[in-house]
Amino acid sequence: MKRISHWVDGHVVEGTSGRSGIVWQPATGEQQASVDLASVDEVAHAVAVAKAAFPAWRATNLSRRAEVMFHLRELVDANRKEIASLLSAEHGKVLTDALGEVARGLENIEFACGVPHLMKGGFSEQASTGIDVYNIRQPLGVVAGITPFNFPAMVPMWMFANALACGNTFVLKPSEKDPSASMFIAELLKQAGLPDGCFNVVNGDKVAVDALLNHPDIQAISFVGSTPIAKYIYETATANGKRVQALGGAKNHSLVLPDADLDMAADAIVGAAYGSAGERCMALSVVLAVDTIADALIDKIKERMPAIQVGPATEEGNEMGPLITGEHRDKVAGYVGGAEAEGATLVVDGRDGAPANGFFLRPSLIDNVAPGMKVYDEEIFGPVLSITRVKSYDEGLKLINDNPYGNGTAIFTRDGGAARQFQFDVQVGMVGINVPVPVPVSYYSFGGWKASLFGDTNMYGPEGINFFTRSKVVTSRWPDPHTSSVDLGFPQNR
Ligand code: NAD
Repeated sequence: MKRISHWVDGHVVEGTSGRSGIVWQPATGEQQASVDLASVDEVAHAVAVAKAAFPAWRATNLSRRAEVMFHLRELVDANRKEIASLLSAEHGKVLTDALGEVARGLENIEFACGVPHLMKGGFSEQASTGIDVYNIRQPLGVVAGITPFNFPAMVPMWMFANALACGNTFVLKPSEKDPSASMFIAELLKQAGLPDGCFNVVNGDKVAVDALLNHPDIQAISFVGSTPIAKYIYETATANGKRVQALGGAKNHSLVLPDADLDMAADAIVGAAYGSAGERCMALSVVLAVDTIADALIDKIKERMPAIQVGPATEEGNEMGPLITGEHRDKVAGYVGGAEAEGATLVVDGRDGAPANGFFLRPSLIDNVAPGMKVYDEEIFGPVLSITRVKSYDEGLKLINDNPYGNGTAIFTRDGGAARQFQFDVQVGMVGINVPVPVPVSYYSFGGWKASLFGDTNMYGPEGINFFTRSKVVTSRWPDPHTSSVDLGFPQNR
Protein backbone atom coordinates (compact mmCIF):
# COMPACT_ATOMS: atom_id res chain seq x y z
CA MET A 1 0.00 0.00 0.00
CA LYS A 2 1.37 3.41 -1.00
CA ARG A 3 2.19 5.61 2.00
CA ILE A 4 2.03 9.41 1.76
CA SER A 5 4.11 11.20 4.39
CA HIS A 6 5.13 14.82 4.97
CA TRP A 7 7.49 17.20 3.14
CA VAL A 8 9.74 19.13 5.49
CA ASP A 9 13.03 20.94 4.85
CA GLY A 10 13.19 19.88 1.22
CA HIS A 11 12.53 16.18 1.54
CA VAL A 12 9.97 13.53 2.41
CA VAL A 13 9.72 12.87 6.14
CA GLU A 14 7.86 9.83 7.39
CA GLY A 15 5.24 10.46 10.03
CA THR A 16 5.85 9.30 13.56
CA SER A 17 2.43 9.92 15.13
CA GLY A 18 1.25 6.37 14.48
CA ARG A 19 -1.99 7.77 13.03
CA SER A 20 -2.95 7.56 9.37
CA GLY A 21 -5.92 8.25 7.10
CA ILE A 22 -7.34 6.45 4.07
CA VAL A 23 -6.89 7.82 0.57
CA TRP A 24 -9.60 6.22 -1.56
CA GLN A 25 -9.67 5.63 -5.25
CA PRO A 26 -13.14 7.07 -5.80
CA ALA A 27 -13.52 5.50 -9.22
CA THR A 28 -13.20 1.96 -7.81
CA GLY A 29 -14.18 2.41 -4.18
CA GLU A 30 -10.90 0.86 -3.03
CA GLN A 31 -8.23 2.25 -0.75
CA GLN A 32 -5.18 3.27 -2.80
CA ALA A 33 -2.92 4.80 -0.16
CA SER A 34 -2.59 5.71 3.47
CA VAL A 35 -1.63 9.20 4.54
CA ASP A 36 0.31 9.99 7.70
CA LEU A 37 -1.58 12.30 10.05
CA ALA A 38 0.75 14.72 11.80
CA SER A 39 0.97 15.17 15.55
CA VAL A 40 1.31 18.52 17.31
CA ASP A 41 5.08 17.94 17.59
CA GLU A 42 5.43 17.13 13.90
CA VAL A 43 3.61 20.35 13.01
CA ALA A 44 5.84 22.27 15.44
CA HIS A 45 8.91 20.83 13.72
CA ALA A 46 7.70 21.92 10.28
CA VAL A 47 6.97 25.41 11.64
CA ALA A 48 10.44 25.58 13.22
CA VAL A 49 12.02 24.62 9.89
CA ALA A 50 9.99 27.29 8.07
CA LYS A 51 10.94 29.84 10.71
CA ALA A 52 14.64 29.04 10.32
CA ALA A 53 14.35 29.41 6.52
CA PHE A 54 12.59 32.79 6.70
CA PRO A 55 15.47 35.26 7.30
CA ALA A 56 17.47 34.15 4.26
CA TRP A 57 14.41 33.87 2.00
CA ARG A 58 13.05 37.30 2.89
CA ALA A 59 16.52 38.74 2.24
CA THR A 60 16.68 37.06 -1.17
CA ASN A 61 16.30 39.77 -3.78
CA LEU A 62 13.06 40.25 -5.69
CA SER A 63 14.49 39.24 -9.05
CA ARG A 64 15.71 35.95 -7.64
CA ARG A 65 12.37 35.24 -5.94
CA ALA A 66 10.61 36.01 -9.21
CA GLU A 67 13.04 33.73 -11.04
CA VAL A 68 12.00 30.82 -8.80
CA MET A 69 8.38 31.51 -9.75
CA PHE A 70 9.32 31.61 -13.46
CA HIS A 71 11.07 28.24 -13.09
CA LEU A 72 8.09 26.83 -11.23
CA ARG A 73 5.82 28.10 -14.00
CA GLU A 74 7.85 26.12 -16.56
CA LEU A 75 7.87 23.00 -14.38
CA VAL A 76 4.13 23.03 -13.69
CA ASP A 77 3.50 23.67 -17.38
CA ALA A 78 5.71 20.71 -18.34
CA ASN A 79 4.03 18.49 -15.72
CA ARG A 80 0.39 19.41 -16.37
CA LYS A 81 -0.56 15.85 -17.27
CA GLU A 82 1.33 14.35 -14.34
CA ILE A 83 -0.41 16.66 -11.86
CA ALA A 84 -3.78 16.17 -13.55
CA SER A 85 -3.50 12.41 -13.33
CA LEU A 86 -2.73 12.62 -9.59
CA LEU A 87 -5.88 14.74 -9.21
CA SER A 88 -7.96 12.28 -11.20
CA ALA A 89 -6.68 9.30 -9.25
CA GLU A 90 -7.37 10.70 -5.79
CA HIS A 91 -10.19 13.19 -6.33
CA GLY A 92 -11.85 11.35 -9.21
CA LYS A 93 -12.37 14.33 -11.53
CA VAL A 94 -11.98 13.54 -15.23
CA LEU A 95 -8.75 14.47 -16.97
CA THR A 96 -10.08 17.48 -18.91
CA ASP A 97 -11.44 18.93 -15.67
CA ALA A 98 -8.17 18.18 -13.84
CA LEU A 99 -6.17 19.86 -16.61
CA GLY A 100 -8.46 22.89 -16.24
CA GLU A 101 -7.70 22.97 -12.54
CA VAL A 102 -3.95 22.93 -13.21
CA ALA A 103 -4.31 25.70 -15.80
CA ARG A 104 -6.27 27.93 -13.41
CA GLY A 105 -3.74 27.26 -10.65
CA LEU A 106 -0.86 28.06 -12.97
CA GLU A 107 -2.32 31.53 -13.57
CA ASN A 108 -1.53 32.31 -9.94
CA ILE A 109 2.11 31.30 -10.32
CA GLU A 110 2.29 33.50 -13.42
CA PHE A 111 0.81 36.39 -11.43
CA ALA A 112 3.42 35.87 -8.70
CA CYS A 113 6.20 36.13 -11.32
CA GLY A 114 5.40 39.85 -11.28
CA VAL A 115 6.30 40.21 -7.62
CA PRO A 116 8.93 42.95 -8.13
CA HIS A 117 6.18 45.13 -9.53
CA LEU A 118 3.50 43.92 -7.12
CA MET A 119 5.49 44.80 -4.01
CA LYS A 120 6.29 48.36 -5.08
CA GLY A 121 5.37 50.97 -2.51
CA GLY A 122 4.63 54.67 -2.83
CA PHE A 123 7.04 57.59 -2.36
CA SER A 124 6.26 61.21 -1.50
CA GLU A 125 9.17 63.54 -1.97
CA GLN A 126 9.23 66.70 0.18
CA ALA A 127 6.26 65.68 2.36
CA SER A 128 7.68 68.32 4.65
CA THR A 129 10.71 70.48 4.02
CA GLY A 130 13.64 68.13 3.48
CA ILE A 131 11.51 65.17 4.49
CA ASP A 132 10.41 62.26 2.30
CA VAL A 133 7.79 59.65 3.17
CA TYR A 134 7.50 56.22 1.60
CA ASN A 135 5.96 52.89 2.29
CA ILE A 136 7.41 49.44 1.81
CA ARG A 137 5.72 46.05 1.89
CA GLN A 138 7.37 43.29 3.89
CA PRO A 139 6.53 39.59 4.29
CA LEU A 140 4.85 38.37 7.47
CA GLY A 141 7.06 35.39 8.35
CA VAL A 142 5.80 31.80 8.50
CA VAL A 143 2.29 31.51 7.05
CA ALA A 144 0.04 28.47 6.70
CA GLY A 145 -2.44 27.25 4.11
CA ILE A 146 -5.23 24.78 4.91
CA THR A 147 -7.01 23.49 1.82
CA PRO A 148 -10.10 21.47 0.80
CA PHE A 149 -10.36 18.23 -1.17
CA ASN A 150 -12.04 19.61 -4.25
CA PHE A 151 -9.12 21.55 -5.78
CA PRO A 152 -6.03 19.77 -4.45
CA ALA A 153 -3.63 21.64 -6.79
CA MET A 154 -5.31 24.95 -7.63
CA VAL A 155 -6.27 26.12 -4.14
CA PRO A 156 -2.75 25.59 -2.70
CA MET A 157 -1.45 27.55 -5.72
CA TRP A 158 -3.89 30.38 -4.87
CA MET A 159 -2.01 30.69 -1.61
CA PHE A 160 1.64 29.68 -1.77
CA ALA A 161 2.55 31.40 -5.05
CA ASN A 162 1.97 34.91 -3.71
CA ALA A 163 3.03 34.02 -0.17
CA LEU A 164 6.43 32.70 -1.25
CA ALA A 165 7.03 35.37 -3.89
CA CYS A 166 6.44 38.01 -1.22
CA GLY A 167 9.19 36.44 0.91
CA ASN A 168 7.20 34.38 3.42
CA THR A 169 7.88 30.76 4.21
CA PHE A 170 4.98 28.35 4.05
CA VAL A 171 3.43 25.35 5.78
CA LEU A 172 0.66 23.68 3.78
CA LYS A 173 -1.91 21.34 5.34
CA PRO A 174 -3.72 19.87 2.33
CA SER A 175 -6.92 17.84 2.47
CA GLU A 176 -6.13 14.41 3.83
CA LYS A 177 -8.46 12.96 1.17
CA ASP A 178 -6.18 13.78 -1.78
CA PRO A 179 -2.73 14.89 -0.61
CA SER A 180 -0.47 13.66 -3.45
CA ALA A 181 -0.64 16.77 -5.64
CA SER A 182 0.77 18.89 -2.81
CA MET A 183 3.67 16.49 -2.31
CA PHE A 184 4.42 16.55 -6.04
CA ILE A 185 4.29 20.35 -6.16
CA ALA A 186 6.70 20.48 -3.20
CA GLU A 187 9.21 18.57 -5.32
CA LEU A 188 8.67 20.96 -8.23
CA LEU A 189 9.30 23.94 -5.93
CA LYS A 190 12.61 22.37 -4.91
CA GLN A 191 13.54 21.80 -8.56
CA ALA A 192 12.59 25.41 -9.27
CA GLY A 193 15.31 26.53 -6.88
CA LEU A 194 13.28 27.32 -3.78
CA PRO A 195 15.61 26.85 -0.79
CA ASP A 196 14.80 23.93 1.48
CA GLY A 197 12.55 24.79 4.40
CA CYS A 198 10.66 27.57 2.60
CA PHE A 199 7.78 25.27 1.61
CA ASN A 200 6.64 22.41 3.82
CA VAL A 201 3.68 20.05 3.68
CA VAL A 202 2.22 18.52 6.82
CA ASN A 203 -0.50 16.02 6.13
CA GLY A 204 -3.11 15.66 8.78
CA ASP A 205 -6.54 16.24 10.18
CA LYS A 206 -7.99 18.44 12.94
CA VAL A 207 -4.96 17.76 15.16
CA ALA A 208 -2.60 19.32 12.61
CA VAL A 209 -5.00 22.18 11.87
CA ASP A 210 -5.38 23.04 15.55
CA ALA A 211 -1.60 22.88 16.00
CA LEU A 212 -1.23 25.50 13.25
CA LEU A 213 -4.01 27.68 14.65
CA ASN A 214 -2.39 27.68 18.08
CA HIS A 215 1.27 27.94 17.09
CA PRO A 216 2.72 31.31 18.09
CA ASP A 217 5.13 31.40 15.12
CA ILE A 218 2.40 31.18 12.48
CA GLN A 219 1.63 34.74 11.42
CA ALA A 220 -1.27 34.16 9.05
CA ILE A 221 -3.71 31.45 8.05
CA SER A 222 -5.20 31.14 4.60
CA PHE A 223 -8.08 28.66 4.62
CA VAL A 224 -10.53 27.28 2.06
CA GLY A 225 -13.19 24.73 3.00
CA SER A 226 -16.72 24.41 4.35
CA THR A 227 -18.46 27.21 6.23
CA PRO A 228 -18.55 25.69 9.74
CA ILE A 229 -14.80 24.98 9.61
CA ALA A 230 -14.03 28.36 8.01
CA LYS A 231 -15.85 30.08 10.87
CA TYR A 232 -13.98 27.98 13.43
CA ILE A 233 -10.62 28.72 11.76
CA TYR A 234 -11.38 32.44 11.66
CA GLU A 235 -12.51 32.64 15.27
CA THR A 236 -9.68 30.52 16.66
CA ALA A 237 -6.82 31.99 14.66
CA THR A 238 -7.88 35.62 15.09
CA ALA A 239 -8.26 35.02 18.84
CA ASN A 240 -4.63 33.90 18.69
CA GLY A 241 -3.66 37.18 17.02
CA LYS A 242 -3.19 35.84 13.50
CA ARG A 243 -4.19 37.39 10.22
CA VAL A 244 -6.88 35.16 8.65
CA GLN A 245 -8.70 34.73 5.38
CA ALA A 246 -11.16 31.83 5.59
CA LEU A 247 -13.28 31.00 2.56
CA GLY A 248 -16.34 28.88 3.17
CA GLY A 249 -19.11 27.02 1.38
CA ALA A 250 -21.68 28.15 -1.12
CA LYS A 251 -25.15 27.80 -2.57
CA ASN A 252 -24.83 29.48 -5.94
CA HIS A 253 -28.02 30.62 -7.64
CA SER A 254 -28.48 31.63 -11.24
CA LEU A 255 -31.39 33.77 -12.37
CA VAL A 256 -32.79 33.08 -15.83
CA LEU A 257 -34.89 35.93 -17.21
CA PRO A 258 -37.54 35.40 -19.90
CA ASP A 259 -35.45 37.10 -22.60
CA ALA A 260 -32.42 34.82 -22.07
CA ASP A 261 -31.05 32.67 -24.87
CA LEU A 262 -32.42 29.46 -23.37
CA ASP A 263 -30.17 27.11 -25.31
CA MET A 264 -27.08 29.00 -24.24
CA ALA A 265 -28.39 29.14 -20.66
CA ALA A 266 -29.15 25.40 -20.60
CA ASP A 267 -25.68 24.52 -21.94
CA ALA A 268 -24.04 26.77 -19.36
CA ILE A 269 -26.19 25.58 -16.47
CA VAL A 270 -25.65 21.88 -17.19
CA GLY A 271 -21.87 22.39 -17.32
CA ALA A 272 -21.81 24.48 -14.15
CA ALA A 273 -24.14 22.23 -12.15
CA TYR A 274 -22.65 18.85 -13.00
CA GLY A 275 -19.02 19.60 -13.88
CA SER A 276 -16.65 17.99 -11.38
CA ALA A 277 -19.71 16.10 -10.06
CA GLY A 278 -20.95 19.34 -8.51
CA GLU A 279 -18.00 19.39 -6.12
CA ARG A 280 -17.02 22.98 -6.86
CA CYS A 281 -17.59 25.91 -4.56
CA MET A 282 -18.64 27.82 -7.68
CA ALA A 283 -20.98 25.06 -8.94
CA LEU A 284 -24.47 26.26 -9.79
CA SER A 285 -26.85 24.43 -7.53
CA VAL A 286 -30.08 26.47 -7.85
CA VAL A 287 -31.68 27.88 -10.98
CA LEU A 288 -34.25 30.60 -10.39
CA ALA A 289 -36.42 30.32 -13.48
CA VAL A 290 -38.97 32.99 -14.19
CA ASP A 291 -42.35 31.21 -14.54
CA THR A 292 -42.98 31.98 -18.19
CA ILE A 293 -39.85 30.14 -19.39
CA ALA A 294 -39.42 27.60 -16.57
CA ASP A 295 -40.98 24.63 -18.42
CA ALA A 296 -39.03 25.35 -21.60
CA LEU A 297 -35.77 25.71 -19.68
CA ILE A 298 -36.30 22.50 -17.72
CA ASP A 299 -37.00 20.63 -20.98
CA LYS A 300 -33.74 21.93 -22.43
CA ILE A 301 -31.73 20.98 -19.33
CA LYS A 302 -33.40 17.57 -19.18
CA GLU A 303 -32.73 16.78 -22.82
CA ARG A 304 -29.00 17.45 -22.32
CA MET A 305 -28.63 15.21 -19.27
CA PRO A 306 -28.68 11.68 -20.75
CA ALA A 307 -25.68 12.58 -22.94
CA ILE A 308 -23.46 13.29 -19.92
CA GLN A 309 -20.91 10.49 -19.76
CA VAL A 310 -20.32 9.40 -16.18
CA GLY A 311 -17.41 7.11 -15.39
CA PRO A 312 -13.79 6.83 -14.34
CA ALA A 313 -11.22 9.38 -15.48
CA THR A 314 -9.16 6.59 -16.98
CA GLU A 315 -11.78 6.02 -19.72
CA GLU A 316 -11.59 8.56 -22.50
CA GLY A 317 -14.75 10.53 -23.18
CA ASN A 318 -16.07 10.55 -19.64
CA GLU A 319 -17.22 13.99 -18.53
CA MET A 320 -18.15 13.46 -14.91
CA GLY A 321 -16.33 11.34 -12.35
CA PRO A 322 -17.30 9.91 -8.96
CA LEU A 323 -17.80 11.72 -5.66
CA ILE A 324 -14.93 11.91 -3.22
CA THR A 325 -15.98 9.17 -0.75
CA GLY A 326 -18.71 6.60 -0.34
CA GLU A 327 -19.96 8.49 2.67
CA HIS A 328 -20.30 11.69 0.68
CA ARG A 329 -21.99 9.87 -2.21
CA ASP A 330 -24.56 8.46 0.22
CA LYS A 331 -25.16 11.90 1.75
CA VAL A 332 -25.79 13.44 -1.67
CA ALA A 333 -28.08 10.54 -2.62
CA GLY A 334 -29.97 11.22 0.61
CA TYR A 335 -30.86 14.75 -0.53
CA VAL A 336 -32.17 13.36 -3.83
CA GLY A 337 -34.13 10.62 -2.04
CA GLY A 338 -35.68 13.04 0.44
CA ALA A 339 -36.70 15.76 -2.01
CA GLU A 340 -40.18 14.49 -2.89
CA ALA A 341 -41.15 14.04 0.75
CA GLU A 342 -40.33 17.73 1.20
CA GLY A 343 -42.72 18.68 -1.63
CA ALA A 344 -40.29 18.97 -4.55
CA THR A 345 -40.58 17.12 -7.88
CA LEU A 346 -37.80 14.71 -8.82
CA VAL A 347 -37.41 15.18 -12.58
CA VAL A 348 -34.23 13.13 -13.08
CA ASP A 349 -33.04 10.72 -10.39
CA GLY A 350 -29.25 10.44 -10.52
CA ARG A 351 -29.24 7.41 -8.28
CA ASP A 352 -30.33 5.39 -11.32
CA GLY A 353 -27.84 4.14 -13.88
CA ALA A 354 -24.56 5.16 -12.25
CA PRO A 355 -21.54 2.83 -12.60
CA ALA A 356 -21.76 0.18 -9.90
CA ASN A 357 -18.16 0.30 -8.69
CA GLY A 358 -16.83 3.42 -7.06
CA PHE A 359 -18.60 6.41 -5.57
CA PHE A 360 -20.69 7.39 -8.59
CA LEU A 361 -24.01 9.13 -9.03
CA ARG A 362 -25.53 10.38 -12.25
CA PRO A 363 -26.79 13.99 -12.40
CA SER A 364 -30.10 14.75 -10.67
CA LEU A 365 -32.64 17.46 -11.48
CA ILE A 366 -35.26 18.55 -8.94
CA ASP A 367 -38.09 20.97 -9.71
CA ASN A 368 -40.37 23.03 -7.43
CA VAL A 369 -37.69 23.44 -4.80
CA ALA A 370 -38.34 26.12 -2.21
CA PRO A 371 -36.68 27.66 0.83
CA GLY A 372 -37.27 25.57 3.93
CA MET A 373 -36.50 22.31 2.12
CA LYS A 374 -33.18 20.69 3.02
CA VAL A 375 -32.33 20.38 -0.65
CA TYR A 376 -32.60 24.19 -0.93
CA ASP A 377 -31.21 25.26 2.41
CA GLU A 378 -28.05 23.13 2.56
CA GLU A 379 -24.92 22.98 0.44
CA ILE A 380 -25.18 19.56 -1.23
CA PHE A 381 -21.80 19.57 -3.01
CA GLY A 382 -22.83 16.94 -5.53
CA PRO A 383 -24.38 16.66 -9.00
CA VAL A 384 -27.83 17.88 -7.98
CA LEU A 385 -29.52 20.87 -9.61
CA SER A 386 -32.60 22.46 -8.07
CA ILE A 387 -35.12 24.58 -9.94
CA THR A 388 -36.99 27.24 -8.00
CA ARG A 389 -39.73 28.97 -9.96
CA VAL A 390 -40.06 32.72 -9.45
CA LYS A 391 -42.54 35.27 -10.73
CA SER A 392 -40.14 38.10 -11.39
CA TYR A 393 -36.61 39.48 -11.31
CA ASP A 394 -37.40 41.00 -7.90
CA GLU A 395 -38.48 37.69 -6.39
CA GLY A 396 -35.37 35.97 -7.74
CA LEU A 397 -33.08 38.71 -6.50
CA LYS A 398 -34.65 38.59 -3.04
CA LEU A 399 -34.01 34.84 -2.78
CA ILE A 400 -30.35 35.32 -3.69
CA ASN A 401 -29.92 38.18 -1.26
CA ASP A 402 -31.74 36.35 1.55
CA ASN A 403 -29.46 33.33 1.20
CA PRO A 404 -26.85 33.05 3.94
CA TYR A 405 -24.12 32.27 1.37
CA GLY A 406 -22.79 34.75 -1.18
CA ASN A 407 -20.05 33.07 -3.18
CA GLY A 408 -21.05 33.13 -6.85
CA THR A 409 -24.12 33.89 -8.93
CA ALA A 410 -25.07 34.30 -12.57
CA ILE A 411 -27.80 36.03 -14.53
CA PHE A 412 -28.89 34.89 -17.97
CA THR A 413 -30.46 37.65 -20.05
CA ARG A 414 -30.07 39.63 -23.27
CA ASP A 415 -31.05 42.83 -21.47
CA GLY A 416 -27.96 44.85 -20.62
CA GLY A 417 -29.94 47.11 -18.31
CA ALA A 418 -31.26 44.16 -16.29
CA ALA A 419 -27.76 42.65 -16.07
CA ARG A 420 -26.34 45.97 -14.91
CA GLN A 421 -29.08 46.33 -12.30
CA PHE A 422 -28.38 42.78 -11.09
CA GLN A 423 -24.68 43.51 -10.72
CA PHE A 424 -25.64 46.61 -8.71
CA ASP A 425 -28.21 44.87 -6.48
CA VAL A 426 -26.91 41.39 -5.80
CA GLN A 427 -25.19 40.61 -2.50
CA VAL A 428 -22.71 38.07 -3.80
CA GLY A 429 -18.95 38.35 -4.25
CA MET A 430 -18.54 36.96 -7.78
CA VAL A 431 -21.11 37.65 -10.49
CA GLY A 432 -21.47 36.14 -13.95
CA ILE A 433 -23.42 37.78 -16.75
CA ASN A 434 -24.27 34.88 -19.06
CA VAL A 435 -21.17 33.26 -17.52
CA PRO A 436 -22.05 30.40 -15.18
CA VAL A 437 -18.81 29.86 -13.22
CA PRO A 438 -17.39 33.37 -12.78
CA VAL A 439 -14.08 32.46 -11.12
CA PRO A 440 -11.99 35.63 -11.39
CA VAL A 441 -8.74 35.54 -13.36
CA SER A 442 -5.60 35.66 -11.23
CA TYR A 443 -5.09 39.44 -11.54
CA TYR A 444 -8.42 40.02 -9.80
CA SER A 445 -9.14 38.41 -6.45
CA PHE A 446 -11.44 35.56 -5.43
CA GLY A 447 -13.89 35.73 -2.57
CA GLY A 448 -17.52 35.48 -1.62
CA TRP A 449 -19.68 37.52 0.71
CA LYS A 450 -21.64 36.61 3.85
CA ALA A 451 -21.09 33.02 5.11
CA SER A 452 -18.82 32.28 2.15
CA LEU A 453 -15.90 34.29 3.52
CA PHE A 454 -14.65 35.14 7.00
CA GLY A 455 -12.03 37.86 7.14
CA ASP A 456 -11.39 41.05 5.24
CA THR A 457 -9.15 39.96 2.40
CA ASN A 458 -10.02 37.94 -0.67
CA MET A 459 -7.82 35.17 -2.00
CA TYR A 460 -5.03 35.67 -4.61
CA GLY A 461 -4.46 38.57 -7.00
CA PRO A 462 -3.76 42.02 -5.56
CA GLU A 463 -5.58 41.16 -2.33
CA GLY A 464 -3.37 38.10 -1.94
CA ILE A 465 -0.30 40.32 -2.08
CA ASN A 466 -1.83 42.54 0.61
CA PHE A 467 -2.72 39.54 2.73
CA PHE A 468 0.79 38.11 2.69
CA THR A 469 2.60 41.40 3.34
CA ARG A 470 2.36 44.26 5.74
CA SER A 471 3.09 47.85 5.08
CA LYS A 472 5.74 49.91 6.80
CA VAL A 473 5.83 53.69 6.37
CA VAL A 474 9.17 55.44 6.60
CA THR A 475 9.60 59.17 7.19
CA SER A 476 13.15 60.23 6.42
CA ARG A 477 15.34 63.28 6.62
CA TRP A 478 19.04 63.55 5.87
CA PRO A 479 21.32 65.68 8.04
CA ASP A 480 21.36 69.31 6.92
CA PRO A 481 23.05 71.72 9.36
CA HIS A 482 21.07 74.67 7.91
CA THR A 483 17.68 73.29 8.95
CA SER A 484 18.60 71.61 12.23
CA SER A 485 17.33 73.05 15.53
CA VAL A 486 15.86 71.77 18.79
CA ASP A 487 12.03 71.76 18.58
CA LEU A 488 9.87 70.07 21.24
CA GLY A 489 6.59 70.71 19.37
CA PHE A 490 4.64 67.98 17.58
CA PRO A 491 5.96 67.55 14.01
CA GLN A 492 3.94 69.68 11.56
CA ASN A 493 4.12 70.10 7.83
CA ARG A 494 2.64 73.59 7.58
P1 NAD B 1 -13.69 20.85 4.96
O1 NAD B 1 -14.11 22.10 5.62
O2 NAD B 1 -14.23 19.56 5.46
O3 NAD B 1 -12.09 20.69 5.02
C1 NAD B 1 -11.23 21.74 4.66
C2 NAD B 1 -9.92 21.60 5.44
O4 NAD B 1 -10.22 21.72 6.84
C3 NAD B 1 -9.23 20.27 5.24
O5 NAD B 1 -7.84 20.47 5.14
C4 NAD B 1 -9.60 19.49 6.51
O6 NAD B 1 -8.59 18.58 6.90
C5 NAD B 1 -9.77 20.58 7.54
N1 NAD B 1 -10.77 20.23 8.56
C6 NAD B 1 -11.88 19.48 8.38
N2 NAD B 1 -12.57 19.38 9.53
C7 NAD B 1 -11.89 20.10 10.45
C8 NAD B 1 -12.11 20.37 11.84
N3 NAD B 1 -13.16 19.89 12.49
N4 NAD B 1 -11.21 21.14 12.47
C9 NAD B 1 -10.14 21.63 11.83
N5 NAD B 1 -9.89 21.39 10.52
C10 NAD B 1 -10.75 20.64 9.83
O7 NAD B 1 -13.99 21.03 3.40
P2 NAD B 1 -13.88 19.94 2.24
O8 NAD B 1 -14.96 18.94 2.39
O9 NAD B 1 -12.48 19.48 2.10
O10 NAD B 1 -14.16 20.87 0.96
C11 NAD B 1 -15.45 21.16 0.50
C12 NAD B 1 -15.96 22.47 1.05
O11 NAD B 1 -15.05 23.51 0.72
C13 NAD B 1 -17.29 22.89 0.46
O12 NAD B 1 -18.08 23.45 1.48
C14 NAD B 1 -16.90 23.95 -0.56
O13 NAD B 1 -17.92 24.88 -0.85
C15 NAD B 1 -15.76 24.60 0.12
N6 NAD B 1 -14.90 25.28 -0.83
C16 NAD B 1 -14.95 26.64 -0.83
C17 NAD B 1 -14.18 27.32 -1.74
C18 NAD B 1 -14.20 28.82 -1.78
O14 NAD B 1 -13.36 29.37 -2.45
N7 NAD B 1 -15.10 29.50 -1.08
C19 NAD B 1 -13.35 26.64 -2.64
C20 NAD B 1 -13.32 25.25 -2.58
C21 NAD B 1 -14.11 24.58 -1.67
